[in-house]
Amino acid sequence: MKDKSVLILYTGGTAGMVRNQDGALAPFNFQQIQDLLPEIHRLPFAVEHWAVDKPIDSSNLKPELWNQLAEVIHEKYEHHLGFVVLHGTDTMAYTATALSFLLQGLSKPVILTGAQLPIGDIRTDAKENILTALEIAGAANLGLPVVPEVCIYFDYALFRGNRSSKLSSDRFEAFGSPNYPKLAEAGTQIKFFQPFIQAVDQPFTFKKVTFIARVATLRLFPGITAAHLKAILSSDEWDVVILQTYGSGNAPSEPSIMDVFKHATQSGKVIINISQCHSGRVVQEAYEVGRQLSEIGVLGGFDLTMEAALVKTMYLLGQEPFQTENFKQQFARNIAGELSEFASNNH
Ligand code: ASP
Repeated sequence: MKDKSVLILYTGGTAGMVRNQDGALAPFNFQQIQDLLPEIHRLPFAVEHWAVDKPIDSSNLKPELWNQLAEVIHEKYEHHLGFVVLHGTDTMAYTATALSFLLQGLSKPVILTGAQLPIGDIRTDAKENILTALEIAGAANLGLPVVPEVCIYFDYALFRGNRSSKLSSDRFEAFGSPNYPKLAEAGTQIKFFQPFIQAVDQPFTFKKVTFIARVATLRLFPGITAAHLKAILSSDEWDVVILQTYGSGNAPSEPSIMDVFKHATQSGKVIINISQCHSGRVVQEAYEVGRQLSEIGVLGGFDLTMEAALVKTMYLLGQEPFQTENFKQQFARNIAGELSEFASNNH
């Protein structure tokens, strides 16, 4: 009888799907995954599991699941060495980011993983991903360094969750964190890159938050019109608009377009500038076209991923009633390692 354990939280995703009669993939239950992964029993700790009532394709994810997962982890925190969240890859980066905000001060690993191919397929990547994620989550028991963070483990690499994005829909190497170094690499041994792993700097807490989606995204493209921008920016369905700009945070400087942005910021909306590039950071002052955005009050999103910018916005909107300046200040602060310190200091 093993006295220590890791808890798997099963939410669905390709890893645990089976093909139905039409060849389409649909989620199935956790017992079937265990049957296909007998190696679990050879780990030096027990593996317990918890599952959502109805496993989902993560494209159907709703923010309520984030609170549900955080609540279970919080409730069972003392009983386990660490936690593995089995999740679809499509929205895994969003869930990892949300969990990093909900579970601050972690001293145990929370590792999200999934797969590109179902566990029953011959060439599945699910087995390696799940087994190594379990080893990292149970690290203390294996004499490996503990990673006290919410991470994504995928295809032999460990990433900080709130820095990650799904970068490929068909490669096994599906994830990356272009603006932050990997936390570990798994080869014959698991090599941890300690300087990049977060230190525990506060007591562990969990506070339920209603994520509020009063946010829109707006991607620039050559030829976009002022009318298009206005249609989004003048709606009172949202308080915040995330503007996906070019390069280091640039937008067309055409007066009719700048006027739309100006009108929106003057009316109290927050516009956040996130680059369409996956790596690098937004420096609005780098070019004249970006500097104008700064002048009219557009907030630079620095080196945040699009996923982190969206989840952070919804998280902050759920904290207290929206107030433009207060929101901007809170957004510019690093909450859980999602934003480089140099960026928040420079603000
Ligand atoms: N559509 C699936 C999901 O996100 C894809 C996957 O798991 O890889 O649930």
